[in-house]
Amino acid sequence: MNRQKPILYILKTLILGLCPSCLKASIFHKIIILKRDCHICSEDFSKYNLGDADNFFVILVVGIIIMAGLVFAEIHYQPSLSLQMIIWIPATIILSILFTRPIKAYFLYLGYKLDKKRKNTQYEK
Ligand SMILES: [Zn+2]
Repeated sequence: MNRQKPILYILKTLILGLCPSCLKASIFHKIIILKRDCHICSEDFSKYNLGDADNFFVILVVGIIIMAGLVFAEIHYQPSLSLQMIIWIPATIILSILFTRPIKAYFLYLGYKLDKKRKNTQYEK
């Protein structure tokens, strides 16, 4: 069981992309692909069905940031279309990768907590 304060535990899990069960191993294979299980505590990540929720929130957050920047640049500087594309297409890719890890980690953490809570309520009955 983890004895850290909950907010530090959650932040560490999200920022570093660590296993919510043992906090020792990364949950990611390569950059943004989830592993099937933790190689230290054998927690099975494949049972937490994330669906498209994580991708939806990445698109939502990155879309808001990119559109705000694009509109701000257009209103104040009126750069050419090619310059806009040079700036915003790589920015979209980089921001998507940066936001995917913590958002996926957050949804995996939620799945882990719900599963743990569900198991606790089953034992109480
Ligand atoms: Zn683990």
